[in-house]
Amino acid sequence: QPSAEARRVPDPERILSEVFGYSGFRGRQREIIDCVAGGADALVLMPTGGGKSLCYQIPALMREGCGVVISPLIALMQDQVAALRQSGVRAAALNSAEPIARIQEAERALLDGRLDLLYIAPERLMLPRTLELLARARVALFAIDEAHCVSQWGHDFRPEYIQLSLLAERFPGVPRLALTATADAPTRREIVTRLGLERARQFVSRFDRPNIRYRIAQSDAGGGSARDRLLRFIRQEHPGEAGIVYCLSRKRVEAIAQWLADQGLEALPYHAGLSAAERDRNQKRFLTGDGVIMVATIAFGMGIDKPNVRFVAHLNLPKSIEAYYQETGRAGRDGLPADAWMLYGLQDVITLRQMLDQSTADDGHKRVERQKLEAMLGLCELTSCRRQALLAYFGDDLESPCGNCDTCLEPPATWDATEPARKALSCVYRTGERFGVNYLIDVLRGRETDRLRALGHHHLSTFGIGTELEPAEWRVLFRQLIARGLLRVDVDGHGGLSLDESCRPLLRGEAAVELRREQRPARSRRERGSR
Ligand code: ADP
Ligand code: ZN
Repeated sequence: QPSAEARRVPDPERILSEVFGYSGFRGRQREIIDCVAGGADALVLMPTGGGKSLCYQIPALMREGCGVVISPLIALMQDQVAALRQSGVRAAALNSAEPIARIQEAERALLDGRLDLLYIAPERLMLPRTLELLARARVALFAIDEAHCVSQWGHDFRPEYIQLSLLAERFPGVPRLALTATADAPTRREIVTRLGLERARQFVSRFDRPNIRYRIAQSDAGGGSARDRLLRFIRQEHPGEAGIVYCLSRKRVEAIAQWLADQGLEALPYHAGLSAAERDRNQKRFLTGDGVIMVATIAFGMGIDKPNVRFVAHLNLPKSIEAYYQETGRAGRDGLPADAWMLYGLQDVITLRQMLDQSTADDGHKRVERQKLEAMLGLCELTSCRRQALLAYFGDDLESPCGNCDTCLEPPATWDATEPARKALSCVYRTGERFGVNYLIDVLRGRETDRLRALGHHHLSTFGIGTELEPAEWRVLFRQLIARGLLRVDVDGHGGLSLDESCRPLLRGEAAVELRREQRPARSRRERGSR
């Protein structure tokens, strides 16, 4: 093994090959390493599996002192420490799972300068004892993994992350690197302000998975039962190939797995209600067998690295765009063509909303989750390229439509919703850009509630001009205006909508809005609202 001193050379290429055994950097790894090794702060957005770990491990080896990694997942922390030690890196972890003797040894090594990387759980880092320890040691850098946990808008907010803002004050000269795989624009803004990363360079990697073809259809818009359509999809497009089918409930997982097996396919169930032994057995079979189909709840997939999964099918709506991206991202890791195929029903929306309402989370959290669900629906109802919208959600732009998603390949039938869209925007404007969708629909449809009267909004010119659409149709329209970035949602307040600059062409009559025909329930159109 090369000695630690030999490794403390300012040459990332050499560390990459001698310590980690890799021949070249991926994506923007090299740029990020140069930035942090040079002492600057950075914010790194990279999809799962993109190679975030090296972005702090290598600078930690290049710089004087020990790199401190803050990670909320103890199991992953232990895997990493074990792997690093195998490569001859002097790594240790401080968390509640470590025996006391190991912790004392790690602390001594840190103070003696005999440690390259120290992994710490966030709640432990913030103990006065730990902070004092670090103050006495030489810290090369702080890496804050899963940085989206600091955001209340993010999907797994952890209160102990909030305190990490202290690091900037306590250790002013030490570079800080925040890393995450899931950060939409609001989450990213929150990470920057809460962690004091205003001056950090931001590295947004390509999130695109060009070999995955995205397809999304509504199950209640005709075309046969969901399971028949799934079977047809598998038989026609992926006979004998490995895939994952995601369902919302354990019961449905069991039923679909059984049914596919009855049709002669090798399909196995996976959910948290099965015994650990059965889950293990099914997972092994999926990983080692040929063409096994795993029917699973979202409990399945964390850390699964099977390169030749040819399709991921969703029989229910995922609860957010992040979840959809993560789950579909398990297809086609080998770079060969793969399918992300989804059938959702309006019942899913109702079920997910109910699950949310019944959860014990606080109101602010529920509101955020509800908006994430709306954003997911917005992606489903889109009439333009799905990949562009998906990537835009993560702050990654794709210049032209992809040509490899259903809306690109078979443009959906649409109706012209330009007039109602202009009414909606005008209503947002006239009510002062602070109300949520339900209130705005009341104004548009002329529903005189007490609140509306108290605010005097029954005198507005937009009051009652939108009787041509039902409330459900207005909701689809608002969702689309949000999904397309024409309306913004106030995430800190109460979900009030405001106009985005980009809605001007539409207001001026220079742009149009098309909506999917199937989202428009068949019924005779009533008279248009009068102005
Ligand atoms: P993330 O934290 O972004 O999910 P990891 O850091 O765990 O990703 O890396 C994912 C996998 O890719 C790991 O097996 C890692 O060893 C490998 N990897 C990362 N960078 C490189 C590289 N430059 N060359 C080869 N393999 C790499
Ligand atoms: Zn497309």
